[in-house]
Amino acid sequence: MRALVLEAANEPFRLTDVPDPTPGPGEAVARVFACGAGLTIQHIKAGRSPAALPRIIGHEIAGEIAEVGAGVADLKFGDPVTAYYYLFCGHCRPCLSGYEPLCQNLAGQIGKVCDGGYAEYIKLPARNFIKLPEGLDHRTHPAEIGVIADALATPYKVLRRGRVRRGDVVAVFGAGGGLGIHQLLMAKWAGARIIAVDIARDKFDACRSAGADEVVDASAGDVAEALAELTRGRGLDVAIDYVSSSATLGAAVKALGPLGRLVTLAGAGQDARIPLSMLRQSEKEVLASRYVSRAEVIDVLEIVARGEVWPVVTDIRPMEEAEELHALLEESKVTGRAALRIA
Ligand SMILES: [Zn+2]
Repeated sequence: MRALVLEAANEPFRLTDVPDPTPGPGEAVARVFACGAGLTIQHIKAGRSPAALPRIIGHEIAGEIAEVGAGVADLKFGDPVTAYYYLFCGHCRPCLSGYEPLCQNLAGQIGKVCDGGYAEYIKLPARNFIKLPEGLDHRTHPAEIGVIADALATPYKVLRRGRVRRGDVVAVFGAGGGLGIHQLLMAKWAGARIIAVDIARDKFDACRSAGADEVVDASAGDVAEALAELTRGRGLDVAIDYVSSSATLGAAVKALGPLGRLVTLAGAGQDARIPLSMLRQSEKEVLASRYVSRAEVIDVLEIVARGEVWPVVTDIRPMEEAEELHALLEESKVTGRAALRIA
């Protein structure tokens, strides 16, 4: 099969022929139609996120089952599928409780410890494939459908984590990023009033199109003050922080109103200082969110199948242009998600 192989960090992909994968017991192989390209995998390519190289990266796939291994009863040839990103065990307590990202036997992620979707075929444990519901045309729109399991499902889970209700005032920090734009879409879907916060002025129009009622330029002054003004002193019900630097976390906590919830996705992985008195005085909460459950992926696939939300994929390229696409990702020049069309 043709595959894009990343042999070393910061090196160009090598588009080459590699042996077709064959499924072992409990595994399945899918033909890949498209694979999403976002910062998560650009971090691997740029060496900022560790992966066992050489590797075929990519995890946001849409495709069809091509072959199943022994003992796989719930998938068959031709089933349209997407992939669940984490390699979970399926039998520990967190897995059985629907918290697969907290799996006690977590083996890693697709495209980091095993080969991913930048190839014509992908082999995974059968439990990592999720069948697509009726109503999703994966042959016509494989790029959009491929990114649902991460780019849309992650924001959906964040809404649940932050207990966002209709009418809540929600601010999204890093709203112009690939996940941020999709967070705006999902917050709109949930009926929130939305304030987008970012420093990338070139993404502000996209933020508005995705559902932001207001946009705050974080480079233009005190963000917490701007948020206080926009909420007329009431404060935010929920702050969602995709940047999670000390500065954004500090501003987010300050901008929360009574009983407000901050959800951090801890992108930068830094330590942060948050005054506990500020939390206690008005019973604010700081919550963290890590990927999604399989059930949440299914929920979001159905939301898209019903036509309630549609992912923002603005740049779809053939495998031959993966290098150019990743250069754009590195320079933050992609709005929403990009994707490779494989078949
Ligand atoms: Zn587990």
